[in-house]
Amino acid sequence: MVDLKSQYEKIKATVDASIQEVLDTTTYINGPKVHEFQKNLEQYLDVKHVIPCANGTDALQIAMMGLDLKPGDEVITADFTFAATVEVIALLQLTPVLVDVDLVNMNISIDAIKKAITPKTKAIVPVHLFGRAANMEAIMRIANEHNLYVIEDNAQAIGANCKFSDGTKKKAGTIGHVASTSFFPSKNLGCYGDGGAIFTNDDELAHKIRGIVNHGMYVRYHHDVVGVNSRLDSIQAAVLDAKLPLLDQYSQARQDAARKYSKAFEGHANIVAPTICDICDCHVFHQYTLRITNGKRDQLMEHLQNKGIPCAIYYPIPLHSQKAYVDSRYKEEDFPVTNQLVKEVISLPMHTELDNEQIEFITNSVLEFFE
Ligand SMILES: *Cc1c(COP(=O)(O)O)cnc(C)c1O
Repeated sequence: MVDLKSQYEKIKATVDASIQEVLDTTTYINGPKVHEFQKNLEQYLDVKHVIPCANGTDALQIAMMGLDLKPGDEVITADFTFAATVEVIALLQLTPVLVDVDLVNMNISIDAIKKAITPKTKAIVPVHLFGRAANMEAIMRIANEHNLYVIEDNAQAIGANCKFSDGTKKKAGTIGHVASTSFFPSKNLGCYGDGGAIFTNDDELAHKIRGIVNHGMYVRYHHDVVGVNSRLDSIQAAVLDAKLPLLDQYSQARQDAARKYSKAFEGHANIVAPTICDICDCHVFHQYTLRITNGKRDQLMEHLQNKGIPCAIYYPIPLHSQKAYVDSRYKEEDFPVTNQLVKEVISLPMHTELDNEQIEFITNSVLEFFE
């Protein structure tokens, strides 16, 4: 699905030199590289605070720990996403409220959010799924009306833009009260191990979170709140700092590949390909995900696998049907879109190193299945 080796070979000199600097200075934890990367990412995103941490799941949990949430508070999130999103809500003894998504952009449905709000609702967690920014303008409007926190799960969409009706753009992850991201190797900005970060424009919240990631310490050996131990190590920061200047180029490479894929599938009776907006960069294609509408998705997957083409189902089971998250409040008829998507979606290889020959082989192989 991804080609991390070809990507590394092209940037080996820069990445190796950056890692070597850490080895030479032996500042493995909280070294200057971590600080440097943090500053550079703040500048790239145009956000006041980036707080690095150990992984994207921690980032989400710590972001929520920083907010004024109490056990039993309801947190609305998408039914169609990776389990980490709902997992941390449950771990913090908050009440997850899963809602349906939109068929076209596969992100949390604005109508479903509105319907799910109760007096106990305290937060909304939109996930910018597959690299496409959720409708943050509508989500912030609802949040402001009902006095709710917005925590953006930006693990899949670093670098994507959110466009507002007044023509302005902001980077995904800089609009809500706080956001999380993941630097897992296959993410759009990936390190060579685990990594994550929290973003916020709120000075007070940033201060609180900087303590939470470090055992709740604000003054050495004074523990003011219950915290965790979650750090980005310096070697991972060195990799990320070497790759960050290439992120826009990487996003473009993904968009170029997506454009070629979608052109090949244009107008097909059984394939719904993602739309690509040419001006706003609202989709950075963490995944390139098709919907197969003739009920033969699984057969197509087998056909592609037989030809040696990697493909995957993100995600095969709705979260509301997962054993860990079943809740008697959920009714199947509340999730028509997720229930449809889990049967129709298939993701094709998507990374920064796809060449025309590979794309053509993949699109031809998909198309011949339907002949
Ligand atoms: C990858 C991912 C996470 C978790 O990130 P890790 O670094 O693997 O912990 C959370 N949410 C979403 C939507 C993700 O894709």
